Amino acid sequence: MKLPPFQYLEPSTVLEALSMLDTYRDTVQIIAGGTEVVNRLKLRLISPDYLMDIKKLPDLGGIAEHEQSIVIGANVSLNEIRDSSLLQDKYKAIAEAAFQVAAPPLANMGTIGGNILQNTRCLFYNQSEIVLKGLGVCHKRGGASCLAVKGGKRCFSVYLGDIAPALIAFDAKCVLEKSGSRRTIPIIDLFTGMGTQPLSIENNELLTGIIIPKQNGAYGSAYRKLRIRGSIDYPLASAAAFLALSADGKLAASRLVIGAAGCAPKVVARASAALSGKLPEDADFAAAADMAYELSEGVDNLALPGDYRRKMVRVLAQRALQGARADIKRGM
Ligand SMILES: Cc1cc2nc3c(=O)[nH]c(=O)nc-3n(C[C@H](O)[C@H](O)[C@H](O)COP(=O)(O)OP(=O)(O)OC[C@H]3O[C@@H](n4cnc5c(N)ncnc54)[C@H](O)[C@@H]3O)c2cc1C
Repeated sequence: MKLPPFQYLEPSTVLEALSMLDTYRDTVQIIAGGTEVVNRLKLRLISPDYLMDIKKLPDLGGIAEHEQSIVIGANVSLNEIRDSSLLQDKYKAIAEAAFQVAAPPLANMGTIGGNILQNTRCLFYNQSEIVLKGLGVCHKRGGASCLAVKGGKRCFSVYLGDIAPALIAFDAKCVLEKSGSRRTIPIIDLFTGMGTQPLSIENNELLTGIIIPKQNGAYGSAYRKLRIRGSIDYPLASAAAFLALSADGKLAASRLVIGAAGCAPKVVARASAALSGKLPEDADFAAAADMAYELSEGVDNLALPGDYRRKMVRVLAQRALQGARADIKRGM
Protein backbone atom coordinates (compact mmCIF):
# COMPACT_ATOMS: atom_id res chain seq x y z
CA MET A 1 0.00 0.00 0.00
CA LYS A 2 1.31 3.40 -0.97
CA LEU A 3 1.55 6.35 1.38
CA PRO A 4 -0.52 9.42 0.46
CA PRO A 5 1.50 12.52 -0.51
CA PHE A 6 2.66 14.80 2.31
CA GLN A 7 5.38 17.33 3.06
CA TYR A 8 8.00 16.28 5.57
CA LEU A 9 8.96 18.59 8.45
CA GLU A 10 11.92 17.94 10.71
CA PRO A 11 12.25 20.53 13.48
CA SER A 12 15.58 20.58 15.29
CA THR A 13 14.37 21.98 18.63
CA VAL A 14 11.23 21.63 20.73
CA LEU A 15 10.63 25.37 20.29
CA GLU A 16 10.71 25.00 16.50
CA ALA A 17 8.37 21.98 16.71
CA LEU A 18 5.86 23.98 18.78
CA SER A 19 6.00 26.83 16.31
CA MET A 20 5.38 24.42 13.38
CA LEU A 21 2.43 22.88 15.24
CA ASP A 22 1.01 26.34 15.72
CA THR A 23 1.42 27.25 12.07
CA TYR A 24 0.09 24.03 10.53
CA ARG A 25 -2.14 22.86 13.38
CA ASP A 26 -5.07 21.34 11.43
CA THR A 27 -2.95 19.91 8.66
CA VAL A 28 0.03 18.43 10.49
CA GLN A 29 0.49 14.96 11.98
CA ILE A 30 3.27 14.26 14.44
CA ILE A 31 5.31 11.14 13.77
CA ALA A 32 7.62 9.67 16.43
CA GLY A 33 8.45 5.96 15.89
CA GLY A 34 5.80 5.86 13.18
CA THR A 35 4.64 2.33 14.00
CA GLU A 36 1.02 3.48 14.26
CA VAL A 37 1.05 6.59 12.04
CA VAL A 38 2.40 4.79 8.96
CA ASN A 39 -0.37 2.16 9.11
CA ARG A 40 -3.00 4.87 9.48
CA LEU A 41 -1.54 6.74 6.50
CA LYS A 42 -1.55 3.60 4.37
CA LEU A 43 -5.18 2.84 5.21
CA ARG A 44 -6.05 6.50 4.46
CA LEU A 45 -7.45 6.87 8.00
CA ILE A 46 -5.43 10.10 8.00
CA SER A 47 -4.05 12.15 5.12
CA PRO A 48 -2.23 15.15 6.59
CA ASP A 49 -0.57 17.79 4.43
CA TYR A 50 2.48 17.77 6.70
CA LEU A 51 4.19 15.02 8.68
CA MET A 52 6.36 16.42 11.48
CA ASP A 53 9.10 14.01 12.55
CA ILE A 54 10.02 14.48 16.22
CA LYS A 55 12.20 11.41 16.67
CA LYS A 56 15.49 13.33 16.59
CA LEU A 57 14.38 16.19 18.86
CA PRO A 58 16.80 16.73 21.72
CA ASP A 59 15.27 16.93 25.22
CA LEU A 60 12.61 14.25 24.63
CA GLY A 61 14.81 11.32 25.64
CA GLY A 62 16.02 9.77 28.86
CA ILE A 63 14.66 8.24 32.05
CA ALA A 64 15.65 10.51 34.92
CA GLU A 65 15.30 9.87 38.64
CA HIS A 66 14.46 12.96 40.73
CA GLU A 67 13.79 13.32 44.44
CA GLN A 68 10.00 13.03 44.15
CA SER A 69 9.50 11.51 40.72
CA ILE A 70 10.77 9.62 37.71
CA VAL A 71 10.61 11.57 34.45
CA ILE A 72 10.49 9.73 31.14
CA GLY A 73 10.99 11.66 27.88
CA ALA A 74 8.21 11.22 25.31
CA ASN A 75 10.63 9.78 22.74
CA VAL A 76 12.02 7.07 24.99
CA SER A 77 11.59 3.79 23.11
CA LEU A 78 9.63 0.88 24.49
CA ASN A 79 12.81 -1.19 24.45
CA GLU A 80 14.49 1.39 26.69
CA ILE A 81 11.54 1.06 29.09
CA ARG A 82 11.82 -2.74 28.98
CA ASP A 83 15.55 -2.59 29.68
CA SER A 84 15.45 0.01 32.46
CA SER A 85 16.56 -1.64 35.71
CA LEU A 86 14.93 1.25 37.63
CA LEU A 87 11.52 0.54 36.08
CA GLN A 88 11.91 -3.23 36.31
CA ASP A 89 12.77 -2.93 39.97
CA LYS A 90 10.48 -0.16 41.25
CA TYR A 91 7.71 0.24 38.63
CA LYS A 92 7.29 -3.33 37.50
CA ALA A 93 3.87 -2.92 35.87
CA ILE A 94 5.31 -0.33 33.46
CA ALA A 95 8.26 -2.53 32.49
CA GLU A 96 5.94 -5.55 32.15
CA ALA A 97 3.56 -3.58 29.93
CA ALA A 98 6.41 -2.39 27.70
CA PHE A 99 7.75 -5.91 27.51
CA GLN A 100 4.43 -7.10 26.09
CA VAL A 101 3.93 -4.39 23.44
CA ALA A 102 4.04 -5.75 19.88
CA ALA A 103 7.41 -7.37 19.08
CA PRO A 104 11.04 -6.27 19.67
CA PRO A 105 11.55 -4.51 16.29
CA LEU A 106 8.38 -2.45 16.85
CA ALA A 107 9.33 -1.79 20.46
CA ASN A 108 12.68 -0.54 19.19
CA MET A 109 10.98 2.03 16.93
CA GLY A 110 7.89 2.75 19.06
CA THR A 111 8.05 5.48 21.70
CA ILE A 112 6.25 5.82 25.02
CA GLY A 113 4.62 9.06 23.78
CA GLY A 114 3.30 7.41 20.63
CA ASN A 115 2.13 4.43 22.64
CA ILE A 116 0.06 6.55 25.02
CA LEU A 117 -1.32 8.70 22.20
CA GLN A 118 -2.35 5.89 19.88
CA ASN A 119 -5.87 6.02 18.53
CA THR A 120 -8.68 3.60 19.35
CA ARG A 121 -9.11 0.57 17.10
CA CYS A 122 -11.98 -1.50 15.71
CA LEU A 123 -12.21 -4.33 13.20
CA PHE A 124 -14.65 -2.17 11.24
CA TYR A 125 -12.39 0.89 11.26
CA ASN A 126 -8.77 -0.25 10.85
CA GLN A 127 -9.38 -1.50 7.34
CA SER A 128 -8.78 -0.09 3.90
CA GLU A 129 -11.58 1.68 2.05
CA ILE A 130 -11.69 -1.26 -0.40
CA VAL A 131 -12.45 -3.73 2.39
CA LEU A 132 -15.14 -1.48 3.85
CA LYS A 133 -16.70 -0.64 0.48
CA GLY A 134 -20.48 -1.02 0.61
CA LEU A 135 -20.57 -1.35 4.43
CA GLY A 136 -21.60 2.23 5.15
CA VAL A 137 -19.64 4.90 6.97
CA CYS A 138 -19.17 4.37 10.69
CA HIS A 139 -19.16 7.06 13.42
CA LYS A 140 -15.36 7.09 13.55
CA ARG A 141 -15.09 7.73 9.81
CA GLY A 142 -17.54 10.63 10.12
CA GLY A 143 -20.75 8.71 9.44
CA ALA A 144 -23.83 8.13 11.59
CA SER A 145 -23.83 4.37 12.16
CA CYS A 146 -21.85 1.77 14.04
CA LEU A 147 -20.82 -1.30 12.05
CA ALA A 148 -19.98 -3.27 15.19
CA VAL A 149 -23.09 -2.64 17.29
CA LYS A 150 -26.33 -2.67 15.30
CA GLY A 151 -28.12 0.62 15.93
CA GLY A 152 -25.20 1.86 18.05
CA LYS A 153 -25.57 5.60 18.63
CA ARG A 154 -21.90 6.09 19.40
CA CYS A 155 -18.50 4.71 18.48
CA PHE A 156 -17.40 1.59 20.40
CA SER A 157 -13.80 1.52 19.16
CA VAL A 158 -11.34 0.27 21.76
CA TYR A 159 -8.20 1.84 23.24
CA LEU A 160 -5.49 -0.83 22.97
CA GLY A 161 -2.46 0.91 24.43
CA ASP A 162 -0.53 -1.23 26.90
CA ILE A 163 1.46 1.45 28.68
CA ALA A 164 -1.24 3.92 29.73
CA PRO A 165 -3.06 1.51 32.11
CA ALA A 166 0.24 0.74 33.87
CA LEU A 167 1.12 4.44 34.15
CA ILE A 168 -2.36 5.27 35.44
CA ALA A 169 -1.98 2.57 38.11
CA PHE A 170 0.93 4.69 39.40
CA ASP A 171 -1.13 7.89 39.07
CA ALA A 172 1.35 9.23 36.52
CA LYS A 173 1.03 12.60 34.82
CA CYS A 174 2.13 13.93 31.45
CA VAL A 175 3.50 17.25 30.28
CA LEU A 176 1.85 18.85 27.25
CA GLU A 177 3.54 21.87 25.68
CA LYS A 178 2.41 24.36 23.09
CA SER A 179 3.81 27.71 21.96
CA GLY A 180 3.95 29.90 25.04
CA SER A 181 2.48 27.50 27.59
CA ARG A 182 2.71 24.10 29.21
CA ARG A 183 0.27 22.01 31.25
CA THR A 184 0.75 18.93 33.39
CA ILE A 185 -2.27 16.63 33.66
CA PRO A 186 -2.95 13.16 35.04
CA ILE A 187 -2.62 10.63 32.20
CA ILE A 188 -6.17 9.43 32.84
CA ASP A 189 -7.35 12.94 31.85
CA LEU A 190 -5.85 12.53 28.39
CA PHE A 191 -8.77 10.25 27.60
CA THR A 192 -12.16 11.66 26.65
CA GLY A 193 -14.04 8.34 26.77
CA MET A 194 -15.35 8.99 23.23
CA GLY A 195 -14.43 6.53 20.50
CA THR A 196 -14.55 9.11 17.72
CA GLN A 197 -12.17 11.52 19.46
CA PRO A 198 -10.48 9.46 22.19
CA LEU A 199 -7.73 11.89 23.23
CA SER A 200 -7.95 15.35 24.72
CA ILE A 201 -4.55 16.57 23.47
CA GLU A 202 -4.95 19.70 21.32
CA ASN A 203 -3.69 19.74 17.74
CA ASN A 204 -0.95 22.27 18.56
CA GLU A 205 0.30 20.43 21.66
CA LEU A 206 3.36 18.22 21.99
CA LEU A 207 3.67 15.57 24.67
CA THR A 208 7.14 16.11 26.07
CA GLY A 209 7.37 13.92 29.16
CA ILE A 210 5.77 11.55 31.64
CA ILE A 211 6.08 12.06 35.40
CA ILE A 212 5.70 9.08 37.71
CA PRO A 213 5.47 9.92 41.42
CA LYS A 214 8.02 8.10 43.57
CA GLN A 215 6.60 5.50 45.93
CA ASN A 216 7.76 4.77 49.44
CA GLY A 217 7.39 1.78 51.75
CA ALA A 218 6.06 -1.62 50.75
CA TYR A 219 4.37 -1.51 47.38
CA GLY A 220 4.14 -3.57 44.24
CA SER A 221 2.62 -3.57 40.80
CA ALA A 222 1.89 -5.82 37.86
CA TYR A 223 0.46 -5.79 34.33
CA ARG A 224 -1.35 -8.71 32.71
CA LYS A 225 -2.53 -8.95 29.12
CA LEU A 226 -4.45 -11.28 26.82
CA ARG A 227 -3.33 -11.52 23.20
CA ILE A 228 -3.61 -14.19 20.55
CA ARG A 229 0.06 -14.34 19.53
CA GLY A 230 2.34 -13.77 22.50
CA SER A 231 5.01 -12.57 20.11
CA ILE A 232 3.29 -9.52 18.59
CA ASP A 233 -0.41 -8.78 19.15
CA TYR A 234 -2.30 -5.86 20.67
CA PRO A 235 -4.13 -6.57 23.97
CA LEU A 236 -7.64 -8.01 23.75
CA ALA A 237 -8.07 -7.47 27.50
CA SER A 238 -5.62 -6.18 30.09
CA ALA A 239 -5.25 -5.10 33.70
CA ALA A 240 -2.68 -3.15 35.70
CA ALA A 241 -2.57 -3.14 39.50
CA PHE A 242 -0.74 -1.13 42.13
CA LEU A 243 -0.84 -2.07 45.83
CA ALA A 244 0.75 -0.34 48.83
CA LEU A 245 0.79 -1.78 52.35
CA SER A 246 0.78 -0.02 55.70
CA ALA A 247 3.03 -1.23 58.51
CA ASP A 248 0.36 -3.70 59.74
CA GLY A 249 0.32 -5.44 56.34
CA LYS A 250 -3.06 -4.05 55.33
CA LEU A 251 -3.76 -2.29 52.05
CA ALA A 252 -3.09 1.43 52.42
CA ALA A 253 -3.64 2.16 48.72
CA SER A 254 -4.63 0.19 45.66
CA ARG A 255 -5.37 1.04 42.05
CA LEU A 256 -6.76 -1.36 39.50
CA VAL A 257 -6.90 -0.20 35.88
CA ILE A 258 -8.35 -2.15 32.97
CA GLY A 259 -7.41 -1.81 29.32
CA ALA A 260 -8.90 -2.91 25.97
CA ALA A 261 -12.26 -2.67 27.71
CA GLY A 262 -13.71 0.48 26.12
CA CYS A 263 -12.63 3.72 24.45
CA ALA A 264 -10.23 4.54 27.32
CA PRO A 265 -8.34 2.82 30.12
CA LYS A 266 -10.67 2.59 33.13
CA VAL A 267 -9.82 2.97 36.80
CA VAL A 268 -11.88 0.53 38.87
CA ALA A 269 -12.53 3.07 41.61
CA ARG A 270 -14.93 0.80 43.50
CA ALA A 271 -12.14 -1.77 43.83
CA SER A 272 -9.82 0.76 45.52
CA ALA A 273 -12.53 1.60 48.04
CA ALA A 274 -13.40 -2.06 48.65
CA LEU A 275 -9.77 -3.13 49.17
CA SER A 276 -8.81 -0.24 51.43
CA GLY A 277 -7.76 -1.40 54.92
CA LYS A 278 -8.05 -5.10 54.03
CA LEU A 279 -5.33 -7.73 54.00
CA PRO A 280 -4.28 -8.48 50.40
CA GLU A 281 -6.17 -11.76 50.11
CA ASP A 282 -7.51 -13.68 47.12
CA ALA A 283 -11.18 -13.46 48.14
CA ASP A 284 -11.09 -9.66 48.15
CA PHE A 285 -9.10 -9.63 44.91
CA ALA A 286 -11.84 -11.79 43.35
CA ALA A 287 -14.49 -9.28 44.44
CA ALA A 288 -12.40 -6.44 42.97
CA ALA A 289 -12.04 -8.40 39.72
CA ASP A 290 -15.85 -8.73 39.55
CA MET A 291 -16.03 -4.92 39.71
CA ALA A 292 -13.57 -4.74 36.81
CA TYR A 293 -15.78 -7.11 34.84
CA GLU A 294 -18.81 -4.90 35.44
CA LEU A 295 -16.92 -1.84 34.20
CA SER A 296 -15.62 -3.44 31.01
CA GLU A 297 -17.32 -3.25 27.63
CA GLY A 298 -17.29 -6.46 25.64
CA VAL A 299 -18.14 -5.57 22.05
CA ASP A 300 -17.57 -7.89 19.09
CA ASN A 301 -15.19 -5.54 17.32
CA LEU A 302 -11.78 -7.11 17.95
CA ALA A 303 -10.20 -10.46 17.12
CA LEU A 304 -11.95 -12.36 19.96
CA PRO A 305 -15.64 -12.28 21.00
CA GLY A 306 -16.61 -9.41 23.30
CA ASP A 307 -18.15 -11.71 25.93
CA TYR A 308 -14.95 -13.70 26.19
CA ARG A 309 -12.78 -10.59 26.39
CA ARG A 310 -14.96 -9.26 29.19
CA LYS A 311 -14.60 -12.49 31.16
CA MET A 312 -10.86 -12.30 30.62
CA VAL A 313 -10.78 -8.78 32.10
CA ARG A 314 -11.98 -10.37 35.34
CA VAL A 315 -9.30 -13.09 35.17
CA LEU A 316 -6.54 -10.61 34.33
CA ALA A 317 -7.64 -8.15 37.02
CA GLN A 318 -7.31 -10.88 39.64
CA ARG A 319 -3.94 -11.99 38.24
CA ALA A 320 -2.66 -8.40 38.16
CA LEU A 321 -3.63 -7.93 41.82
CA GLN A 322 -1.91 -11.20 42.73
CA GLY A 323 1.12 -10.15 40.68
CA ALA A 324 1.28 -6.82 42.51
CA ARG A 325 1.11 -8.68 45.84
CA ALA A 326 3.97 -10.95 44.74
CA ASP A 327 5.93 -7.85 43.72
CA ILE A 328 5.54 -6.45 47.25
CA LYS A 329 7.07 -9.59 48.68
CA ARG A 330 9.84 -9.31 46.10
CA GLY A 331 10.60 -5.74 47.15
CA MET A 332 10.68 -6.40 50.92
C1 LIG B 1 1.90 -5.19 14.36
C2 LIG B 1 1.71 -4.18 15.45
C3 LIG B 1 1.49 -4.60 16.74
C4 LIG B 1 1.29 -3.66 17.75
N1 LIG B 1 1.07 -4.12 19.01
C5 LIG B 1 0.88 -3.23 20.01
C6 LIG B 1 0.64 -3.70 21.32
O1 LIG B 1 0.66 -4.90 21.60
N2 LIG B 1 0.41 -2.79 22.30
C7 LIG B 1 0.42 -1.43 22.04
O2 LIG B 1 0.21 -0.66 22.98
N3 LIG B 1 0.66 -0.97 20.81
C8 LIG B 1 0.90 -1.83 19.78
N4 LIG B 1 1.16 -1.37 18.52
C9 LIG B 1 1.09 0.07 18.24
C10 LIG B 1 2.42 0.84 18.24
O3 LIG B 1 3.43 0.09 17.68
C11 LIG B 1 2.84 1.26 19.64
O4 LIG B 1 1.76 1.79 20.35
C12 LIG B 1 3.98 2.28 19.63
O5 LIG B 1 4.43 2.49 20.94
C13 LIG B 1 3.57 3.62 19.05
O6 LIG B 1 4.65 4.50 19.20
P1 LIG B 1 5.25 5.31 17.95
O7 LIG B 1 6.35 6.15 18.47
O8 LIG B 1 5.59 4.40 16.83
O9 LIG B 1 3.97 6.17 17.59
P2 LIG B 1 3.66 6.96 16.24
O10 LIG B 1 3.09 6.01 15.25
O11 LIG B 1 4.80 7.78 15.82
O12 LIG B 1 2.52 7.93 16.81
C14 LIG B 1 1.32 7.45 17.39
C15 LIG B 1 0.39 8.65 17.68
O13 LIG B 1 0.94 9.47 18.69
C16 LIG B 1 1.14 10.81 18.21
N5 LIG B 1 2.39 11.24 18.86
C17 LIG B 1 3.54 10.53 18.98
N6 LIG B 1 4.40 11.17 19.78
C18 LIG B 1 3.80 12.33 20.16
C19 LIG B 1 4.19 13.42 20.99
N7 LIG B 1 5.37 13.44 21.63
N8 LIG B 1 3.32 14.46 21.17
C20 LIG B 1 2.10 14.45 20.55
N9 LIG B 1 1.68 13.43 19.75
C21 LIG B 1 2.52 12.38 19.57
C22 LIG B 1 1.22 10.69 16.70
O14 LIG B 1 0.84 11.89 16.04
C23 LIG B 1 0.20 9.57 16.47
O15 LIG B 1 -1.09 10.10 16.50
C24 LIG B 1 1.36 -2.28 17.47
C25 LIG B 1 1.61 -1.86 16.17
C26 LIG B 1 1.79 -2.79 15.16
C27 LIG B 1 2.09 -2.30 13.78
